[in-house]
Amino acid sequence: MKDNTCAVCDCELDDTRIAVKIGGRTVEVCCEECAVVLREAEAATRAATAGAHTSR
Ligand SMILES: [Zn+2]
Repeated sequence: MKDNTCAVCDCELDDTRIAVKIGGRTVEVCCEECAVVLREAEAATRAATAGAHTSR
């Protein structure tokens, strides 16, 4: 298992890799687009988790 692949699209990372901090850990992605996807996914997860603790 290689650890030099993008956490979003699974393509190989090169010099343009971007480190994104998500929930206290650092994840590397291949481009800014993937970084945005990762941040949005994390935000959605956090919102869903927060929603679970909030009665409607
Ligand atoms: Zn990517």
